[in-house]
Amino acid sequence: MTKLDETLTMLKDLTDAKGIPGNEREPREVMKKYITPYSDEISYDGLGSLIAKKEGNPNGPKIMISGHLDEVGFMVTQIDEKGFLRFQTVGGWWSQVMLAQRVTVVTSKGDITGVIGSKPPHILSPEARKKPVEIKDMFIDIGASSREQALEFGVKPGDQIVPYFEFTVMNNEKMLLAKAWDNRIGCAIAIDVLKYLKNEEHPNMVYGVGSVQEEVGLRGAKTAATMIKPDIAIAVDVGIAGDTPGISEKEALSKMGKGPQIILYDASMVSHKGLRDFVVGVADELNVPYQFDAIAGGGTDAGSIHITLEGVPSLAITIATRYIHSHAGILHRDDYENAVKLIAEVIKRLDQETVNKIKFD
Ligand SMILES: [Zn+2]
Repeated sequence: MTKLDETLTMLKDLTDAKGIPGNEREPREVMKKYITPYSDEISYDGLGSLIAKKEGNPNGPKIMISGHLDEVGFMVTQIDEKGFLRFQTVGGWWSQVMLAQRVTVVTSKGDITGVIGSKPPHILSPEARKKPVEIKDMFIDIGASSREQALEFGVKPGDQIVPYFEFTVMNNEKMLLAKAWDNRIGCAIAIDVLKYLKNEEHPNMVYGVGSVQEEVGLRGAKTAATMIKPDIAIAVDVGIAGDTPGISEKEALSKMGKGPQIILYDASMVSHKGLRDFVVGVADELNVPYQFDAIAGGGTDAGSIHITLEGVPSLAITIATRYIHSHAGILHRDDYENAVKLIAEVIKRLDQETVNKIKFD
């Protein structure tokens, strides 16, 4: 295996952490560990979003950079008499990526390995083989032989169930394979933007945020934004990579490695024109590659931040990622590093006058 450098070690720690919506303690602690050296103050909103403040000019505008801490997963709802677990999906899942996948059940007595059970093809009729299994018929096998034994293992209704995958640097070392890129890469960008600004002057106050409960409706970003009262917000998240077989350019245009995505439109927001034009201008000035994207479905934390309080000019900048909302996603390291550079350079230029101009563009 490739020796992990400082950045890869952080990415591994972030993606390994287990945290479905409402259960973000572990990723929050990892983010706190990595962002604290570059922050002046750490605080939390009432739902558990992490807010790391970096002071530039205390009289300058407030800039919020938000990645979400939670990942899609499942929750234990029932334990049947034979010891199998029934579950609720938390966040959006497609049934076809779930069967026979390894999961971790996080209990008060520690982590338990399980697998989403499936039938062997030998006993499936030709018609049944063609049909997807419905999520409501799926179960998790933790190797318990009875409900009593599952309870002894520590499993309780409400426990989170998290996809399991090994963080892997692929043969092309720019290609990184892991669970939970959605959205630990956003948390990593927020951390690295503060790191980039460590010894730089910036005419504003920067807030690096790890928000909670994005996957169930952009909830923590709203509460965090209410605390911060930002003048400008950028949500950082994963976006769709359209560069695999079977995806047409009409469905998704972006290619991994071709730069961060600047989202024009999604189901949660029309990106703020003034802010978008400003960010594109900075990218052009510095020759940072970027790609535009519009996604008719889905949304990011920016969708909830921009309608908080009296309204916040907001933009989503995303990293084209393959296979999101499954056990294993792939992204390109250059896109991540270019996103950090672009956002940090934008922040360096956001003084009060510029923000005023952006607002009414
Ligand atoms: Zn997501």
